Amino acid sequence: MTAKLIDGKALAASIRADLKGRVEKLKAQGHCPGLAVILVGDNPASQVYVRNKIKACADTGIKSLEYRLPAETTEAELLALIDRLNKDDAVDGILVQLPVPDQINDERVIAAIDPRKDVDGFHPINAGNLVVGRPGFLPCTPYGVMKMIESVGYDLSGKRAVVVGRSNIVGKPQALLLLRRNATVTIAHSRTQNLSEVTREADVLIAAVGRAKLIKADMIKPGALVIDVGMNRDENGRLCGDVDTQAALDVAGWISPVPGGVGPMTIAMLLTNTVEAVERRLLA
Ligand code: NDP
Repeated sequence: MTAKLIDGKALAASIRADLKGRVEKLKAQGHCPGLAVILVGDNPASQVYVRNKIKACADTGIKSLEYRLPAETTEAELLALIDRLNKDDAVDGILVQLPVPDQINDERVIAAIDPRKDVDGFHPINAGNLVVGRPGFLPCTPYGVMKMIESVGYDLSGKRAVVVGRSNIVGKPQALLLLRRNATVTIAHSRTQNLSEVTREADVLIAAVGRAKLIKADMIKPGALVIDVGMNRDENGRLCGDVDTQAALDVAGWISPVPGGVGPMTIAMLLTNTVEAVERRLLA
């Protein structure tokens, strides 16, 4: 084994400890940060994510307001709740856990959230701010990945970065954030030809696909920094990433594990965005 592990769990813990102090300061000034978490339906994975986010809020001193709506909730009902939360001064952040049931259009739901409360960073205004390099909320997962890269002191300037996956919540914003740090960025996806040739060029490889162990050791450039965003189940039902981590350890320079890598960082950045929402409001 040559690769060093990038411990997302430890980094997330230190970010959360720092946030706790910021939250205490805000509370002393009479502003308790509040995050509204909306879950529609009973998707089991979503229930776990929501439970973890609510627990993380409690640990950090952030007040969470939980809205569990039945699976048959209409789009109009959800939009009415978001409108109410947009106007509520006790609510600094609004999060709608995706996916929502089929009768609800997720794009309309995201667009209905006040961009100043869009702590997931999915609103088109925040997505646009990211493209043009203006301040705004960054999507939590790619934001967390950037913090992980920073944490090992890696200088991205001029490096070849490859992001596998082009979703609006991970791949695309990830590529833009790497570009912001002056990496030369390639985005690969399901239509990419000769994926191995593309990934082998990468000094920094981010896998955000959702296919267990898609990235094999021979697809990694020796010494590369590899971040595994994927959350999948392996043949034994165990949580695993998009990278064949065990084999990759012999080739990569740095690698983030699953579990204990990007997952805890995503939650830490959600809390960060929520605290920033309050701080920005106070400055406005
Ligand atoms: P999506 O399904 O929205 O996107 C997957 C992307 O991977 C698509 O762009 C798709 O290409 C591409 N892709 C699919 N198959 C291949 C392939 N064989 N070769 C190359 N590219 C491929 O997923 P998300 O972006 O939402 O999530 C990706 C993974 O990250 C999932 O495992 C998810 O669970 C995990 N995740 C983890 C988080 C965390 O906190 N740890 C947070 C968010 C996500 P195309 O566009 O052409 O279809």
